[in-house]
Amino acid sequence: MNFRLSPDDEALKARVAQVAETRLRPRAQSWGERDELNWELAKALGDEGLFGLLFPTEYGGALSGPFRATTLYLVREELARTCVAAEELFAVQGLGGYPILLAGNDIQKRCYLPPLVRGEQVPTFALTEPGAGSDPAALSTMARRDGGDYVLNGTKCFISNAPDAQTNVVFASTEPQAGRRGLSALIVERDTPGLVGRPMHTLAPHVIGELTFEDCRVPRSHLLGEEGDGWRIAMETLDLFRASVGAQALGLAQAALVLSIEYARARRQFGQPIASYQAIQFKLADMATELEAARLLVYSAAWEWDHGSKLSPAASSMAKLYATEMAGRVVDQAVQIHGGLGVLRGHPVERLYREARAPRIYEGTSEIQRLIIARELLRNL
Ligand SMILES: Cc1cc2nc3c(=O)[nH]c(=O)nc-3n(C[C@H](O)[C@H](O)[C@H](O)COP(=O)(O)OP(=O)(O)OC[C@H]3O[C@@H](n4cnc5c(N)ncnc54)[C@H](O)[C@@H]3O)c2cc1C
Repeated sequence: MNFRLSPDDEALKARVAQVAETRLRPRAQSWGERDELNWELAKALGDEGLFGLLFPTEYGGALSGPFRATTLYLVREELARTCVAAEELFAVQGLGGYPILLAGNDIQKRCYLPPLVRGEQVPTFALTEPGAGSDPAALSTMARRDGGDYVLNGTKCFISNAPDAQTNVVFASTEPQAGRRGLSALIVERDTPGLVGRPMHTLAPHVIGELTFEDCRVPRSHLLGEEGDGWRIAMETLDLFRASVGAQALGLAQAALVLSIEYARARRQFGQPIASYQAIQFKLADMATELEAARLLVYSAAWEWDHGSKLSPAASSMAKLYATEMAGRVVDQAVQIHGGLGVLRGHPVERLYREARAPRIYEGTSEIQRLIIARELLRNL
């Protein structure tokens, strides 16, 4: 394994960092407090070509070869360092678009992917339900066949980009007796009669909502892959994206570390900068060490995926688990180093503290990551 980024990846990182500094940082604080879809920002990211990094050239993107986990993870880390609102838009463009890339036919790809590349539309990945969170196989949304259509009934909750997204990738059961083998993935467009959306509100603002389907008719041509492919599509997508949540956590922790170093140098108490006290120096040293350890786990997962050895669910879970828990600890220490300012509403560290919480829950809680890792350990010994 090569621990250095390739020159192309270094160039990509520098390009994203430049976009982030010039176009995102000046408005990151106010955008970070909005929880309705920021179309201006989506269009800007599309114009900068960032969404195109996720999709092949034949659908308007920039990918001339296979999908690259390193690209996804690098961009998530760089954006999260500066502007989480942009980072989340980028991430969900991938999370909702990837199932179409993975299992869609050419007609579906030509219809749904180019508007995602341009940032004119956004997707969802709609799996979670009120009764099925950590256990998505227990979902109860039904898609009953009726002539040339499916008729959907059920509710999805905590869905990023809902209710504004036009392209909803919805996981539903087409064969209830078959359990997870009876799950299918369908594209449900926002304006389909019978689909009602409602926003939800979270600790750190995040575009998120509920989708309810009441006799919602979807043409059979909107099925991704075959009936019964839903579980495979969802899990293959999550195996790739779970570790990318770890990359987001790296960006949050890096931002917290930099702010802490700057503040520790500038803030004077007892006649000296607080950075001169060993108690503060040890905090900074631990923050940097944990961050670097997490970075190795995340980019080792990316390397595994990009080199064709299928990324194991445990490797993806380790990266997500360690990096998101690490970000929680690092941001907490950043608050401590900032003293009262760290909890002052509107301070960047206070916002990071709220932003670092949900990643330990979505795409599988920390407990579920541990279950995945333990299952693989016990199977292989
Ligand atoms: C900001 C945000 C964005 C999200 N975006 C999306 C999205 O785009 N698409 C989507 O489909 N979902 C999304 N989700 C939903 C998310 O994936 C779920 O919230 C998550 O999987 C946990 O499900 P739950 O909330 O129902 O918690 P539960 O499953 O009810 O878990 C409650 C607690 O019990 C623990 N627990 C559950 N089962 C076990 C077990 N077997 N062993 C040990 N502990 C267990 C959990 O770890 C947790 O601590 C999002 C959530 C958030 C907060």
